[in-house]
Formats: sequence, structure tokens, C-alpha cells
Amino acid sequence: MTRLNEVPFYDPHPDPLQGIEPASRILIVDSDAAQRINLRRILTQPGRQFDQCGGYSEILARLTGAHYDLILLDYRLPDGNSLAILEWLERQGRDEAVIMMSDDCAMDVAIRALRRGADDFLRKPCHEIELRRSVRDVLKKHASERTNRSLRERLVASERLHRDLAERSPDLVFSLDTEGCFKFVNPRVISTLGMSERELAGRRLSSLVEAGNAAELDELLRAQRADPARDFNAELHLKCPGGTTDGCEDGHVTVEVRGSPITEQDAGRAVYTGLYCVARDVSAHRRAEELVGFQTYHDQLTRLPNRTLFRDRLELAIAQAQRRCNCLAVMIADIDRFKLVNDGYGHADGDALLCQIAARFTDAVKSGDTVARLGGDEFAILLTDIGGAEEAQRGARTIMRALEEPFALSQGPFRVTLSIGIAIYPTDGDSAEMLTRHADIAMRQIKQAGKNGLRFFAPEYNSHHRQRIAMENDLRVALDRDQLELLYQPQVSLTENRIVGMEALLRWNHPDNGVISPATFIPVAEEIGLIGEISHWVVEQACAQLATWRTAGHSHLKMSLNLAQHDFGREDIIELVMDCLRRFMLPPDRLELEITESMAMQDGRSVAGRIRALRSAGVGIAIDDFGTGYSALAYLQELPVNVLKIDRRFVRDLDGLVTNPIVAAIAGIAKGFGLKLIAEGVEHARQALNLKALGCDVMQGYYFAKPLSAAEALRAIPLSPRPVME
Ligand code: C2E
Ligand code: MG
Ligand code: MG
Repeated sequence: MTRLNEVPFYDPHPDPLQGIEPASRILIVDSDAAQRINLRRILTQPGRQFDQCGGYSEILARLTGAHYDLILLDYRLPDGNSLAILEWLERQGRDEAVIMMSDDCAMDVAIRALRRGADDFLRKPCHEIELRRSVRDVLKKHASERTNRSLRERLVASERLHRDLAERSPDLVFSLDTEGCFKFVNPRVISTLGMSERELAGRRLSSLVEAGNAAELDELLRAQRADPARDFNAELHLKCPGGTTDGCEDGHVTVEVRGSPITEQDAGRAVYTGLYCVARDVSAHRRAEELVGFQTYHDQLTRLPNRTLFRDRLELAIAQAQRRCNCLAVMIADIDRFKLVNDGYGHADGDALLCQIAARFTDAVKSGDTVARLGGDEFAILLTDIGGAEEAQRGARTIMRALEEPFALSQGPFRVTLSIGIAIYPTDGDSAEMLTRHADIAMRQIKQAGKNGLRFFAPEYNSHHRQRIAMENDLRVALDRDQLELLYQPQVSLTENRIVGMEALLRWNHPDNGVISPATFIPVAEEIGLIGEISHWVVEQACAQLATWRTAGHSHLKMSLNLAQHDFGREDIIELVMDCLRRFMLPPDRLELEITESMAMQDGRSVAGRIRALRSAGVGIAIDDFGTGYSALAYLQELPVNVLKIDRRFVRDLDGLVTNPIVAAIAGIAKGFGLKLIAEGVEHARQALNLKALGCDVMQGYYFAKPLSAAEALRAIPLSPRPVME
């Protein structure tokens, strides 16, 4: 047998590829140890590692423990069949390259070996050059096959990954052809649109887009065809009647689409074949944005525009009116005595009333006009395109009429009146700020003048307004700065010929403006929410004073107090009064609370309930200024009132007349209902006599005494009042 190592070692052509071959491990299998050494010597070069073994069983042991790039396999093995090795490699899925070497020159040996997977066949003895070349070629081929295989595997893995990503993506992933028809859709597209893959295939995306949005999409796709490299970004409103995703709440879903062009190579040129799109469902986000936008510009309760939006619209309307030389009107409308609803009926009814008013306002204006809620019970109305003040007045009257029908509240029907201030562009201002301010000033004017009406702004209101603002500010600190004082006006009984009570009358000693009458500042205090604090102080102060007089021995005295409308809306009014009586150890019947007819007339059950509770605790309830308010007297039956105070203006008319029919009627009512009568504003003896003749015994007025300071009142109590001539 010719042995390889017997072949003279001569290499006239050194291998030009030597050195750039990748590192490799070679297993030499030959039963002849010298041959193995020789082969190794021939093949040695940097980067190659060798193992060797001599027989069949040894090979399998090596192959199970290691991996080789190449096996140089002698055909004839002493203990087994080399072809069986090839089969084993095949079965095991091994990728080792094999060069079979054999001294058998039969052709079929080579064929068998090559068929069973050998990469080359060398006949021994073989030339070193031939051996080296074969090894080099097989290793190269093997390396490139391995690279290809690994590339293929990576490609398959990457494709699988991308398919998985697309399939499982929470986004809508799809591809479109050049006409914008679906080619591929992921499951998310199917669930969002509620259509099957089959229904979607070949369908135009624009056919699923809301009408207003479809033309825009078609235009974008056309531009994309013309210039595939441009960015494709669009927000689409897709119809999804059968959609099952969260975003698809009202049969629509809003998606943000980003597209990348798909190109294919054709004769070395990139040809545009469609778009690969990823769309994100932004419906919830858009809805949240819309909500935030709505809340920023609207009142949450009535859903009317708020102050900010009103201002925007007014500015726009001013700009338009300027261009068209038109007029516009700004109205500030304030609900009269709204506080009573909130305080007396509760906030739920207050809210319901505001919503109903908002709806009636909206119905009462033209479609282009704006009704806004500025806050609380204050609304603003913008009438655009009007001819002038008369048209504004007609508009305001319509709005007022809209409130005439009673409103349905949980406690029954409720009537509302309105105070409206109007400013006209351009006469009353040319900016949103100025027109709104002037309308507001006009509204305050009508409020002060008795509410329930409308008033146009007039320049002189500005100074009234400034005074009013100054008063509000000063009033806020009046209590803390001890500027409030109670005066006491004696109430005289003619039969007893002595002072039987005192009416506490409030004064504000203003540091600059002198004494201010309660008739001036009490309504302001009511409007700015200070009345509660002031009334509390009055009750406390008057009770303390009565206690002092009682200690001085005047225990027969009664104290009358005036309470504001707001006070009976307070839940704690009973507790406040009773607490004072307890602390100052006053019998409840020594205290008399004066309320006006309008307070007694309030529909609020809670107000009536509070009056009843106080009365049943023994506290006196007097109707002040009786006869000036309402003509309906039903409330006298409903409420446990025990005193009527005849108003000054009826007493004044008693001057000349011996009998005044109104006073006579009031006296009759008092008698009929078993009520005590007190006449106020008695200035002359003649009035007192006439009152006495009509059955009125207790009187107060300048004839007997003006309101006095506490010290003066104390001095006056023991004295007999001025005699009334018979
Ligand atoms: P009122 O309760 O009817 O009080 C009677 C008013 O007539 C008092 O005016 C008193 O000074 C005045 N007066 C009394 N006798 C005569 C007279 O002979 N001739 C004339 N011309 N006037 C007379 P005043 O003190 O300015 O109070 C005005 C109103 O302010 C009161 O009317 C009452 O409704 C309210 N008021 C007074 N004090 C308080 C208070 O502490 N709280 C509340 N909420 N209102 C008060
Ligand atoms: Mg009074
Ligand atoms: Mg009075």
C-alpha cells in the first residue's frame, strides 16, 4: 500500500490562500499512525487544529464529544465501515465536511463515498498539493455553507420575530398597495374594524374612513405615489361598526398612522409597491383632549361657555362689528335673591335651577348669540349684529320673559326674577374687558335700585361703582375694627306709661364717611356674603345688652332685633339664638325677632320651619313694616307670628286723619289673628292718639325717643315717656 508519507514532500506551489482561511478543527482518521503524522505535517498551517484517531469506535467517541470542520477519513478502517460514519453524520444532522481517502482505485468506492455525503474523494497516494487544495476547498465550501446556513437561520428567525411583532402588536399594522388597498392586516386591524381578513383584503382604506377624512387620505396616497420617499403621517377617523376594541365606542376609532414605503428592485431600480403602515388607536386620548378642551372653556354644571370662552367670542364679535360698522350688546344677568334658593332649598335645587335658567336663556337668544355662565348666579349674554340699543332692549325683555314661568324644583314651583345690565358696542366701550365691566356696573345699579329689571350703562355709574367697591372693601373690615354699633329705640306702652322694649338698630361708624344707615349697608353686606357674621354680632351684642339692663333691674324689658332675609336661610340660626339666650340667661319671651313680610312669604319650608321652631321655644316673631310688602295674608295663618309692626308710612298718614282705613284694617287683622300691634315712626302726639284710638298700645318713634346709645337708653328706661294728650 502506498503511503502518503512515502510521497516525497515537495511543494512547488505554496498555497496562495494560506493565512486567510478561517480557523478550523480537523480530525484525521487513519489506522496508520505514521500516515496520520504525515497528513498533519502536510496540512499544518496557522489557524488549523488537529485531532487524530485510528479506528471506527474511536471516531464516534471523538465526534460525540467535539465538533470538527473537516474529517479526513480513511476508507479502510480496521474495526468498522467508514461509509457507516458518513451515515451516522447524516443521521445526527452533523455538518462536518468529510474528505474520504482510499487506496482502492475502484470507481464505485468513490461514488459510494460521495453519495453518502463525502465532500471529496482522494485516491492514495495523492500529491501533497492535491491534498492541500482539496482540504482548502472543502474547508472554504464548508465555511461558506455554514455562513449561508446561519444567515438563512437568522433570516427565518427575524421573519418569525417580525411576524410575531406584527401579529401581537397592540397597534394596527397593515400594508397597502399603490392604490391604497389592503394587502396585509394584523389581528388588531381585524378586531378594531370588526371585519374579517377576507373582507379587508383588496379593500381601499379610504372606504373605511369617515367622509370628511377620505378625500384627505386619497390626496396623501396620491402624493406618496408621486414621491415615495416623503413622510406619511395621517390622523384617520375609521368607521368600525363591528369593532370590539375599547377605542371603538361610538362606531368610530381615531388612529394616528405612520407609513413607510415598500420598494422592490426591478432592473437595479427601486420601484414603489405600497406602504407599510403602523397605526395607533388614539381615540381615548383624543376624547380626553376634547374633554379637557371642553372643560377649559365651559361651565361644568350648565355646559354653557365659561368666562374665558365668552371673552374669546366677544373679542371676535367686536372685531367683526368693527369691520361691518355694526353694534353688539353685552348683557350681564344676575338672578335676584338666588342665595335664598341655595340656602333655603339646598344646593341640589340651586344647581337644578341654574341648569333650567341656562336652558331658557339659550332658547331665548338667536343661534349666533352666546350665553355664558360667569360663575354663581351670574350669566353673560352676547347679542351680535344688532341695530342699536332698542334691539338690545327687546332682546333683554325676551330673556326676562323667558324666566316668567315658574321653575320646577324638588320643593315645588319657584319664580325667578332677573337683573340685567347692558353695555353696547361701540358707545359703552370698544374692548371685551370694558364692555363686560360696564354691563356689570349697570347690573349692579339695577340691583341697588330694587332688582328685577334692566338698565343700560351710563358713564356716571362709574363713580357710583367706585364708591360701591370702596364700601364693600371697608365693610369687610368694619366688624374687626369695631366700627359697628347698636342703637336702641324705646318702645313705649301707653297703658303702662313706660318703656316696655327696645329695638336694636345697627349703625356703621365709618371713619371717613360718618354714620352709615343700615338701609345702605345691609343690602351690600347681604350681597357680599357678610350678613351672617354681622347678624351674629348683632344677636350677641343685643342679648348682652339686655342682660346688662336686666341686671340693672329692668327685667320687664323686651329686645327687638332685625334679622336679614339670609339669616333664616341659615341652618344654625336657631342654635345661634338659643345659645345666646342660654349664655346670657335670658327668658326667650324677652327676645323678639323682626322679619319682613317677604321673608315670611318665602316658599322655603325650611325657613317656615325655623320660624316655627324659634316661636315654639318662646321667642317672639314680629312682622316688620307690615302692610308694605305683600297683600296676601295667608302666611299669617301658616306662621306662628305674634306681633305686627305698623309701618311708618301709614303712621305718617295718620297726621290729619282721625281714622286711616289701612291702619284700621291692620288693627283689625291683628285683633282677628290675636296678634300684638306695635306702631313705628310715631313723630307727633296726634299720631299716637289716633293709634291709641285704633287699639294700638305699643309705639316707637321720634316723638318718644330717637334711637339711643346703650348708655342713653339706660338713662331713659326709668323715665316716664312723653305724655300723650287726650
Ligand atoms: P326698621 O326695622 O323698620 O327700623 C325702623 C327704622 O325707622 C329705623 O331706621 C329707625 O331709626 C327709623 N325710625 C324710628 N322712628 C322714626 C321716626 O319717628 N321717624 C322716622 N323718620 N324714622 C324713624 P334705621 O335705624 O335707619 O334702620 C333702617 C332699617 O334697617 C330698619 O328698619 C331695619 O329694617 C334695618 N336694620 C336696622 N338694624 C338692623 C340690623 O341690626 N340688622 C338688620 N338685618 N337690619 C337692620
Ligand atoms: Mg325693625
Ligand atoms: Mg320697620
